[in-house]
Amino acid sequence: MHSVAVLVARFEVPGGQTVQAFTFALDCTPAEAACVRRQFGGRRYARNWAVRTLKQDLTRYHESGEATQMPSLAGLRKRWNQVKDTECADQVTGQVWWPEISKEAFADGIRAAVDGYWNWQASRAGKRAGRRVGFPRFAKKGRDRDRVTFTTGAIRVEPDRRHVTLPRIGTVRTHENTRRLERLVADGRARILAATVSRRGTRLVVAFRVLIQRPQQPRVQRPDSRVGVDVGVRVLATVADNDGVVIERVANPRPLEAALKELRHLCRERSRRTRDSRRYAETNQKITRLQRRIANIRAHRIHTLTTRLAKTHGEIVVEGLDAAGMLRQKGLTGARARRRGLSDSALGEARRQLAYKTDWYGSHLVTADRWYPSSKTCHHCQHVQDIGWSEHWTCHGCGAGHQRDDNAAINLARYEDTSTAGDTAVGPVGAAVKRGADPKTEPGSAGGRETRKGRSHTAAEQPRDGVLAR
Ligand SMILES: [Zn+2]
Repeated sequence: MHSVAVLVARFEVPGGQTVQAFTFALDCTPAEAACVRRQFGGRRYARNWAVRTLKQDLTRYHESGEATQMPSLAGLRKRWNQVKDTECADQVTGQVWWPEISKEAFADGIRAAVDGYWNWQASRAGKRAGRRVGFPRFAKKGRDRDRVTFTTGAIRVEPDRRHVTLPRIGTVRTHENTRRLERLVADGRARILAATVSRRGTRLVVAFRVLIQRPQQPRVQRPDSRVGVDVGVRVLATVADNDGVVIERVANPRPLEAALKELRHLCRERSRRTRDSRRYAETNQKITRLQRRIANIRAHRIHTLTTRLAKTHGEIVVEGLDAAGMLRQKGLTGARARRRGLSDSALGEARRQLAYKTDWYGSHLVTADRWYPSSKTCHHCQHVQDIGWSEHWTCHGCGAGHQRDDNAAINLARYEDTSTAGDTAVGPVGAAVKRGADPKTEPGSAGGRETRKGRSHTAAEQPRDGVLAR
């Protein structure tokens, strides 16, 4: 058996169907909430057991050369079932507590440990893209992302549209109406594959993974329209067409700004409290709740923006910016404000949503080369100059005045993929731009969608607009 087989044993989505998540906040009674937390704990316990076991296996192998079986979900579950009577005994009373926990919670935890192990192995062997992955670490209560996934058993959305049924936890009331999922299931247009219960801040939510037959969408409103979208710091997004007209500037939502202000206030308040006091905990909970609210506002705004774009325009061009790399560019003036702004507008999330929504609505997404200098190229004369982080700048070539985001969106709208088109007026400008070590000659994949270009650039070397920060 090869390790890759373990990694790619995934569910195949039948043609014409999509896997989509539907999330609802749960309105648990205290008893139900306690039951949910026990499932979280059980999952974490099994995961930590599996990590410990894998570690011991490795140590034994290094010391005595004694080989063990390949780490697999099935193998470890078998071992878990052999030891759970002793593993899950209360230290004081000796009472065995595993029957209170769904066996799926244990399996979910063990699966997480096994996946983590193989990710570590693949990363070590250089077979995994992205950052290096370490050996799975132990999860700790309070720091763990509390969650549990059920794939079998009673998983239902009740016809009253106000309750859901989950294994072991039972029928729980939801805060929201479940109509948007219930009617799909009732019509036979959707099938629930799994349910994940997790904690989001102070709330418990359930996310149903659903196999869904999406209705054939009408074509996009303006199939000939090609727009560039600059997801930015000052405004959420700027949309421009290839005639150089800025179609719209989508502002950061007001409630978000207000919530961020309140967050700063609360963080200051917390810093005045004594750690681990009751008041500290109170303020802390307020902060947790507010952070969730901020995330929700942001997610909603990005969703409406990307849906509208994908339904309207035939082709959408976005920046190929590695947001994570940019956020790590410290030391430049205003780095903190920029990091906040960027994480707020969540460029990566917008791009991820556009990738699948353009598919749904018959639009097309183009991702610009990561080194394409969209904001520092003059859209009149193609002159490229260093503009730092300034909002307004004047072109040294033709004297035109530019607003940074507007100019970037216009350039993106005119962007042409150099891997398919050869010499173009506004392709990535090569001569004036330092590009690090990457000659950028290999052809990108068709569509250029979400592909990582270049091979071995670390985050610090991933510059916006092609100039390395020295
Ligand atoms: Zn110019």
